[in-house]
Amino acid sequence: MAIESVMKQLRGKRLCLFLDIDGTLLEFAAHPDAVYVPPQLVADLRTAYDIFEGAIAFVSGRPVRQIDALFHPLRFSAAGVHGAEIRLSPDGQIMQTKDAGLSQELWLDVMRIVQLFPGTLAENKTFGYAVHYRNAPQFGPSLATEIERLVDAARDSTLSILHGHGVVEIKKASVEKGWAIEVLMQQQSFAGRTPIFVGDDVTDVPAFAKALELDGFAYSVGHSRPELSGSFENPMEVRAWLASLVHTAEADH
Ligand SMILES: [Mg+2]
Repeated sequence: MAIESVMKQLRGKRLCLFLDIDGTLLEFAAHPDAVYVPPQLVADLRTAYDIFEGAIAFVSGRPVRQIDALFHPLRFSAAGVHGAEIRLSPDGQIMQTKDAGLSQELWLDVMRIVQLFPGTLAENKTFGYAVHYRNAPQFGPSLATEIERLVDAARDSTLSILHGHGVVEIKKASVEKGWAIEVLMQQQSFAGRTPIFVGDDVTDVPAFAKALELDGFAYSVGHSRPELSGSFENPMEVRAWLASLVHTAEADH
C-alpha cells in the first residue's frame, strides 16, 4: 500500500501508536540479540513521542527490559512477552499480568526438545518459552510437533502455542496483545485518541482486532489481510511511513 494512501486515511485524526518490533520496525536477524536498530528510526520514534505527547507504545513478544535495551535511550510505555508484562507509562514499573507464569518443569522439557534439533535455540522469557528455528528451518515442522506433544501431555488448558516467523512459543492462553492495547488505551496519555497498530505475525491478530474495534487502524507487514486498514511491504516501508508521519505532523504544528 502506498505510504500516501495510509497518510490520507490518518489525516486529521488525533492518533496514538502501538508498534510491534520484530518483523515490523526491524528486520529479523539470525539471533534475537543480533537485530539492527537504525539510528534514524530511533530519532523518528523520539520525535513521534513528542508529537503524540507520549501516546506511543511498543507491543512486542520481547520482554520489556529487552525492548528498553534495544531502543536505549528511548523508553516508552510497553507491553512485553505478548502482553504478559505491561508498563503503563515510560517511568512506570513493569507489571506482570496475573497468572502469566509458566512452570520450571515445562522449561526443562523445552530445553530437552531443543537438544534434538541442532541449530535451534530456546529462549526463557519467564512468561513465554520460545524456540527459534530461523537458523535451522528444516526442523520447523518436527519441532512444532514436539512442542505440541509436550503441551498436550501437560494437560493444562491454560497453555497455548504461538507459531510465529521462525519461532514456536508456549505461553498462557489468556496473554495476548489485544488486551494490552485495551489497558494502555485507558491511560491518560492514550485516552481519547485514535489507535494505530502495526504488526506482522499471528501473535498480532488480537491486536489488529482490538485497534479496529476501538475505531482505529490496523496495518499488517508482509502479508496483506483484507480485513485490515492496509499493509506495508516490509519493515523498511514501515520506517519510511513513520518518518513521513512525524514530518507531516511537525509541519502541521
Ligand atoms: Mg513481529
